[in-house]
Amino acid sequence: MRGLLILSVLLGAVLGKEDFVGHQVLRISVADEAQVQTVKELEDLEHLQLDFWRGPARPGFPIDVRVPFSSIQAVKVFLEAHGIRYRIMIEDVQSLLDEEQEQMFASQSRARSTRTFNYDTYHTLEEIYDFMDLLVAENPQLVSKLQIGNSYEGRPIYVLKFSTGGSNRPAIWIDTGIHSREWITQASGVWFAKKITEDYGQDAAFTAILDNMDIFLEIVTNPDGFAYTHSKNRLWRKTRSLTSGSSCVGVDANRNWDAGFGMSGASSSPCSETYHGKSANSEVEVKSVVDFVNDHGNIKAFLSIHSYSQLLLYPYGYKTESPADKDELDQVAKSAVAALSSLYGTEYKYGSIITTIYQASGGSIDWTYNQGIKYSFTFELRDTGRYGFLLPASQIIPTAQETWLALLTIMEHTLNNPY
Ligand SMILES: [Zn+2]
Repeated sequence: MRGLLILSVLLGAVLGKEDFVGHQVLRISVADEAQVQTVKELEDLEHLQLDFWRGPARPGFPIDVRVPFSSIQAVKVFLEAHGIRYRIMIEDVQSLLDEEQEQMFASQSRARSTRTFNYDTYHTLEEIYDFMDLLVAENPQLVSKLQIGNSYEGRPIYVLKFSTGGSNRPAIWIDTGIHSREWITQASGVWFAKKITEDYGQDAAFTAILDNMDIFLEIVTNPDGFAYTHSKNRLWRKTRSLTSGSSCVGVDANRNWDAGFGMSGASSSPCSETYHGKSANSEVEVKSVVDFVNDHGNIKAFLSIHSYSQLLLYPYGYKTESPADKDELDQVAKSAVAALSSLYGTEYKYGSIITTIYQASGGSIDWTYNQGIKYSFTFELRDTGRYGFLLPASQIIPTAQETWLALLTIMEHTLNNPY
């Protein structure tokens, strides 16, 4: 094992991977609005190169930030000088990355069927794309693969279609991985795909869903970003598009939708992790989904999956106004969260984006809701910050299993409440 670890670290160095040796993730606890504002000042100091995993929102809402080794003393002194409490959540980011690499190396094998595929390890883009082809080949009457576009760097963007017939049936949309570093989401997407093929014809409730509706599942919604998390920088969030006049790369693909685009809750700076892009739908990864949703015209539920924080959210993110269907969405979220918690006791909060986390503009589910897709929800999967984006692979299957129960609740509600 030790040898493998050393090998993977050396390989990382040879391939020029970004290293995170000595980087820490701090959990900052802000007591009042003044402290929230103080941390926002910290956010604006670009030379510190801070990476906010959970940005400043409101008093009592924890802030998680990755701090490069060279900035740690400055940040700690700053916080202490302002009487702001913090603790170290991750002592050394690189050591978690090394463990993750070691686990991937140790369980690496080319699956010849989806039965022998390792669901409890993280996979590369190629491995996930191979998995999709295996699943389609094994279940030709149930699963097909659609290409809805090409990424900025030219990679195919695929959606799996699960259908038992009919034409243009009402449909459920599920996407994972729009933020590439949220690896638990793509891994869960793979598990969902397999689960659908296993449960159809076996589980009565799920069979009723698929006998009446189609499911579209986009596992790698940001292929360029995902490839980059494997090849160069595990913590890459955005797309990989270039912005003229800036050396910073990428757009936050969940600030790029045409709903409150460019309003507060996104950044106009290309170097920001929440950069909204030059215009709504500027990112081909977003535009491809927008075109697909518009062309389909009969999508009834749109479920967009992120990590982390353990939240189930509904519109709006860009404005404080409640959606017309707030009471129903709140009830559905409550039931879905109860179903999720029933398996392992994982606790979720639920509510609208703006009241539960913070204002976020240009998000996918605000756009889909405004297009008339009533059941528009966003998940933030495990955990609440112990590992954050670096959730150990041993939690993939339990996370996917519990999340599936929430998805089932929403899908059943959609089936039983046609509109
Ligand atoms: Zn996300």
